[in-house]
Amino acid sequence: MNAPLTPTSRESLQKAERQSQVVRALQAHLPGHALIWHEEDTTPYECDGLTAYRARPLVVALPETEAQVAAVLKTCHQLGVPVVARGAGTGLSGGAMPHTLGVTMSLAKFNRILKIDPARRTAVVQCGVRNLAISEAASPFNLYYAPDPSSQIACTIGGNVAENSGGVHCLKYGLTLHNVLRVRGFTAEGEPIEFGGEALDAPGLDLLALVIGSEGMLAVTTEVTVKLVPKPQLARCIMASFDDVRKAGDAVAAVIAAGIIPAGLEMMDKPMTAAVEDFVHAGYDLDAAAILLCESDGTPEEVEEEIGRMTAVLRGCGATAIAVSTSEDERMKFWSGRKNAFPASGRISPDYMCLDSTIPRKRLADILLAIQEMEKKYNLRCCNVFHAGDGNLHPLVLFDANDPDELHRCELFGADILETSVAMGGTVSGEHGVGVEKLNSMCVQFTATENEQMFGVKRAFDPAGLLNPGKVIPTLQRCAEYGKQVVRGGRLPHADLPRF
Ligand SMILES: Cc1cc2nc3c(=O)[nH]c(=O)nc-3n(C[C@H](O)[C@H](O)[C@H](O)COP(=O)(O)OP(=O)(O)OC[C@H]3O[C@@H](n4cnc5c(N)ncnc54)[C@H](O)[C@@H]3O)c2cc1C
Repeated sequence: MNAPLTPTSRESLQKAERQSQVVRALQAHLPGHALIWHEEDTTPYECDGLTAYRARPLVVALPETEAQVAAVLKTCHQLGVPVVARGAGTGLSGGAMPHTLGVTMSLAKFNRILKIDPARRTAVVQCGVRNLAISEAASPFNLYYAPDPSSQIACTIGGNVAENSGGVHCLKYGLTLHNVLRVRGFTAEGEPIEFGGEALDAPGLDLLALVIGSEGMLAVTTEVTVKLVPKPQLARCIMASFDDVRKAGDAVAAVIAAGIIPAGLEMMDKPMTAAVEDFVHAGYDLDAAAILLCESDGTPEEVEEEIGRMTAVLRGCGATAIAVSTSEDERMKFWSGRKNAFPASGRISPDYMCLDSTIPRKRLADILLAIQEMEKKYNLRCCNVFHAGDGNLHPLVLFDANDPDELHRCELFGADILETSVAMGGTVSGEHGVGVEKLNSMCVQFTATENEQMFGVKRAFDPAGLLNPGKVIPTLQRCAEYGKQVVRGGRLPHADLPRF
C-alpha cells in the first residue's frame, strides 16, 4: 500500500503533472531543442542580476520565430500558465525572475539586425540584439545608438525597452523612451501588436510610451525600430575631485543651473573610487571624498567652449583637482572606472544589491550623508555611484547572501534608501525598474488609487494577468501588510522615515 501523500509531496506531484502537460502542449509548436525543463538545464534561468532572489521555472522556451512566440503565448493562455519574457537576464530588480508555475520565454535567438537606414538614421532590430551590437552595426555609417547602459555589452534591446533603460549619456540624449520609434510584439493572447511607427510621431494615443518601461507586463516585444545619432566629432572628459560630498553635489546642480547639459555627469564616492581604482587603475584621486566625471561632446569648438565653462563652474564650487582628457585613450581611461563600478564591487564583497532611486539634484549630498548613517544602522557597507546629472542614485549595498541576517539587513537598508529618496522628493526607480525588488516601496511612492490605475492598464492589455504576474504593481493586501500603505485620496504620514 502507498504511504499517504504529505502536503509538500502532493504539491510536487501536482507541479510535475502540470509540467508534463505544458511540455506536451508546447512540443506541438516548438522543436525539441527549443524546450528545456530538467532542473540542471533550467538553473541558469533562476534569477537575473538580482541574484538574491531565485525561482525555478516550470519550463524554459526558446522560440526562434515570431510564429513560435505567438504559439507559446496562445498555448500558455489556453492553459492559464504565466509567461515571463527574458532577454539577457542582466536586470537588477528581479524582473526576469521566473514564475514557479510559469514558462520563461527566452528571446535570446532573436538576435538579428534587420536593417540600418543611414538616410533616415534608424535601425530595425530583433529584440534579442545586444545594445552595443546596434552601435557596432551603425558605426560604418558614422552613427550610433545613444542610450548606453553599463551592461550594454550584454543586455538586449528588448530588455532595454521593458525597463526604459538609461546610461551615462542619457542626460543629453535621452532614455530608451526618447530613442525608440516603434515596438512590434505579441499580446498575452498571442496576437500581433505594434506601438508607434517608423515616422517621428504616430496617430492615436501614445501607447509606445506606455509599453516602454512596462517590464514585460503588457506585451512581449519581438522587434524594435531605434533612432541613430551621428557620432560626435570630439568628446572630452573632465575628472574633478572634491574634499566634501556636499561640495560635489552642489557642483552637479551648479553645472546644470549654468545652462550646460553635459554629455555625461557622473559622481562616485570615496569607497566606490577605492574599489574601482584597485580594479582598473583609472588614475582616480583616492584622497577625494567624491569625484565627478563631466563629459562634453560636439564639434571641437563646442567642446572647447563647454569644457572651459564647466571647469570654471567646478572650480567655483571648490574642486580640489581638475584633469581634462587630452586624448581618446585618456578619456576612455577616465570612464573605465565608472563603467566597471559594479564588477569592482563584486571583487570586494560576496554579493551586492544595487539600488536605483532618484532624487532632486540639489539633495545629492543629503542622501549620501543619510546613507552613511544607514551604514551604521544596518552594519553594512555601501559604495555609491550616481548618474548625478539625472539625480539617479546607484548605491551598492555590500552583503553576503549566505548569511540570512545580512540579506535581511540589506533588504531593510535598500528599502530605507528608496523610501528616504521618496521623502526627499524623488522616486523609487530611475532606470532599473521595479521588478520584485521594489514592490514594497511602491506602496510608499503611490497611493492605492494610483496603484489601482496601473492594475487597470495591466488588465486592459492582459485581462487574465499572465504576463510577468506578481511584479511591479503592489496589491492592496501587500501594502496593508507592509504597513506603509498610502490611503485612497491621501498619503499616510511616513512616520518611520527620517525627516530632512
Ligand atoms: C553590470 C550591470 C550594469 C548595469 N547598468 C545599467 C545602466 O547603466 N543603466 C540601466 O538602465 N540598466 C543597467 N543595468 C540593468 C540591466 O542591464 C537593464 O535593465 C537591461 O535593460 C536589461 O536587459 P536584459 O536584456 O538583460 O533584460 P532581462 O534582465 O532579461 O529582463 C528585464 C525585464 O525585461 C523584460 N523583457 C526582456 N525582454 C523582453 C521582451 N523581448 N519583451 C518583453 N519583455 C522583456 C523581462 O521580463 C524583465 O522584466 C545594469 C546591469 C548590470 C548587471
